Amino acid sequence: MKICSTVEELEAALNPFRINKRLIGFVPTMGALHHGHLSLITKAKQENDLVVCSIFVNPTQFNNAADLEKYPRTLGEDERMLKEVECDVLFVPSVDEIYLNGNYSVLNVDFGVLDKGMEGKSRPGHFAGMITVVNKLFMIVKPNSAYFGKKDFQQLALVKYFVQTQHIPVSIRECPIVREADGLAMSSRNRLLSPEERKHALLISKTLFRVKEMRGKKTVSEIKSYVESAFANDGLLKLDYFEIVNAETLVSMEKLEGNAATIVACIAAFAGNVRLIDNETI
Ligand code: AMP
Repeated sequence: MKICSTVEELEAALNPFRINKRLIGFVPTMGALHHGHLSLITKAKQENDLVVCSIFVNPTQFNNAADLEKYPRTLGEDERMLKEVECDVLFVPSVDEIYLNGNYSVLNVDFGVLDKGMEGKSRPGHFAGMITVVNKLFMIVKPNSAYFGKKDFQQLALVKYFVQTQHIPVSIRECPIVREADGLAMSSRNRLLSPEERKHALLISKTLFRVKEMRGKKTVSEIKSYVESAFANDGLLKLDYFEIVNAETLVSMEKLEGNAATIVACIAAFAGNVRLIDNETI
């Protein structure tokens, strides 16, 4: 695996492939890799001639300085895992390499209603920072395809919208959520959980699976009451939001009965000061 830390090094590594019209697949990450990330690399390997993974903890998408500070960084272990799945190129730029001359300006994209709820509401500025770095990385890597997990369901919807409306020639490939054996969605933040918090965090996926069983049997408000009381009874976890949304428009659903649309239930919750998100198509 070739490791590049500058745009110049990356250009030198990728140019021969570009000239020969080989397909480049790209997996942007913030590191602290787990099997969820590796599933994206594996899919990219299947569909491309060369796979580039980036590890960059993007400061502009953190709306909380303490969260950025404590975000797990495990580069040595990440490199080992990437070699194991035969990733071809790892791009690990410094903050200065991405935000040249200390210019931290972010894109101001009109996402319509897509970014108004859920993560957009709870984490002001998060999506402006996210789309800025995704755009920069797309300009630098110039991939044919880029791989994103449904774990970050709203992020994926925004990236798809951005690429489509800005005519960016990158095919966005969606990958299913990879879970631990007990159901907890894999996340870099899981390693910040204490053993006690880890046990309680299971309530997130358990609740989503229970909600799935309730579709067609309960109203949206009954489901919401169920979820709120499940979290209130937990004592350790704090529910940030629970939403049932249309998968395409991300608009909150008032009614589920007779609706054939794809519907996604989404939860964000705090375990101590670790914020976790998960979702499930219901
Ligand atoms: P992150 O490093 O958290 O920014 O995530 C990088 C990419 O991996 C994003 O596209 C995420 O949606 C994806 N990802 C993170 N966790 C999972 C998971 N458990 N299953 C599938 N994809 C994931």
